[in-house]
Amino acid sequence: MRILIVEDDPRVARFVEKGLQENAYATSWARCCGEAKDVLSEGEYDLIILDLGLPDGDGLDLLREWRACGFNEPVLILSARDSLDDRVKGLNIGADDYLPKPFGFAELLARVRSQLRRTSQQKVSVLEHKGIRLDLLGRVVSYNGKGLSLTNREFSLLELLMRNTGRVLTRTQIGERIWEANFEMQTNLIDVYIRKLRKQLENGDGESLIKTVRGVGYSMP
Ligand code: CA
Repeated sequence: MRILIVEDDPRVARFVEKGLQENAYATSWARCCGEAKDVLSEGEYDLIILDLGLPDGDGLDLLREWRACGFNEPVLILSARDSLDDRVKGLNIGADDYLPKPFGFAELLARVRSQLRRTSQQKVSVLEHKGIRLDLLGRVVSYNGKGLSLTNREFSLLELLMRNTGRVLTRTQIGERIWEANFEMQTNLIDVYIRKLRKQLENGDGESLIKTVRGVGYSMP
């Protein structure tokens, strides 16, 4: 489980990090809105602990931005702003929980655990879209009831597309997620993989479920 702490006060950040690490959570620390955006674009987190008064902006604006672009991991606000109004505002913008400072670590930990428990129950193990069924635990794929045999890369690529149905994914985004590094030189490799995947996903009309968005990337509408 990975937790991102967005906090400009180093004492608070260290205190929270130390406690979470002692409880076997992996943590990252971002000191400001800019850093938080960078860190989030580089990796996935199961929970974000968000301070509001940050040197380069307001945590609420950051949260609003995340929710507007479909980022739905749980966010727990940890802030000195402790009026009822502040809490309601934070929750309305899309926070999952709100803990005012000063706080005790035991309470923070209990709330972190409850958020993570809730999301792990919601985490799906099967993705389904237009006849494709992707069993993430069993690593089994079928299309209209017929089993497909995919390589690990093809499986990951299909999973990425299915988690983002209706959204256009650029080649760079696909490269970063599936190949991680050195993707710049490999964009035609992505095209090759897409072509292979498409072949397996043709319906009776010869139409594929994966669409090319010219000059941009691919999407699965
Ligand atoms: Ca602060």
